[in-house]
Amino acid sequence: MNIVVLVKQVPDTWSERKLTDSDHTLDRESADAVLDEINERAVEEALLIKEAQGGEVTVVAMGPERATDAIRKALSMGADKAIHLSDEALHGSDAVQTARALAKVVGTVESVDLVIAGNEATDGRTGAVPAMLAEVLGLPQLTYARKVETDGSTIKVERETDAGIVHVEASLPAVVSVTEKINEPRYPSFKGIMAAKKKPVTVLSLADAGIDASEVGLANAGSKVVESAPKPPKQAGQRVTDEGSGGVQIVEFLAGQKLV
Ligand SMILES: Cc1cc2nc3c(=O)[nH]c(=O)nc-3n(C[C@H](O)[C@H](O)[C@H](O)COP(=O)(O)OP(=O)(O)OC[C@H]3O[C@@H](n4cnc5c(N)ncnc54)[C@H](O)[C@@H]3O)c2cc1C
Repeated sequence: MNIVVLVKQVPDTWSERKLTDSDHTLDRESADAVLDEINERAVEEALLIKEAQGGEVTVVAMGPERATDAIRKALSMGADKAIHLSDEALHGSDAVQTARALAKVVGTVESVDLVIAGNEATDGRTGAVPAMLAEVLGLPQLTYARKVETDGSTIKVERETDAGIVHVEASLPAVVSVTEKINEPRYPSFKGIMAAKKKPVTVLSLADAGIDASEVGLANAGSKVVESAPKPPKQAGQRVTDEGSGGVQIVEFLAGQKLV
């Protein structure tokens, strides 16, 4: 199995995230950056498939120079090699441009059987890139997978959404996106961390990947953030002290808010 995993470096959810004043894109420098947790699960699923079937796992990331740290984490978990699309001109790319650019990079990997992504990145949160990528590559898409089974030629997925669970099947090659229920990702071992330092990471510029600069970046994006404001601070809540009429007071409060 030749598996590609899409991994994204995102601001740590424990850091304060903010947008830049100049162009309203994410201020990546102001926050600690980590490999998105959902992508750790995507890497884990790829490693489980590789352990069962044999094969190779390539991680692909699009992001600034420091995304190398996220790539190394995926390699230290056990992925074999990585491709990093890194170019100043990518700044501000929207989901469509991101999907098209990632498709070009996936196209540089020979005979891909399976692409695994997270269902939604914790920063952009469009939850759209995997489906868009499948469309651009002309591959079946099996999104929101909470369980994946493959015999090397077909793939079966339990797809879970608010509407219920659907069993989906496709022949490979295909694109799968996984939810947080898929597995528990392994911790990189010391041996894995040391080995990751020697694993190959190919850094591609736009030109290397065959992407024209006019296809990416904020200036060419189909959508962009035009205005933003910080969330207002949380108001203090109303405290109800129960001196016999607590239940009535709560119902009155809820009725006042038109919640009951
Ligand atoms: C403040 C802010 C405003 C934004 N405004 C817009 C906007 O107006 N329009 C718009 O289209 N987008 C917008 N985005 C999205 C931004 O451009 C995204 O980072 C990018 O388009 C990818 O979308 P996503 O992160 O929502 O991916 P999702 O679709 O949520 O990610 C799903 C999965 O796709 C893969 N993936 C996604 N991005 C990458 C990557 N760079 N490298 C490797 N794998 C990846 C990962 O496996 C990920 O788990 C905004 C983001 C932010 C933070």
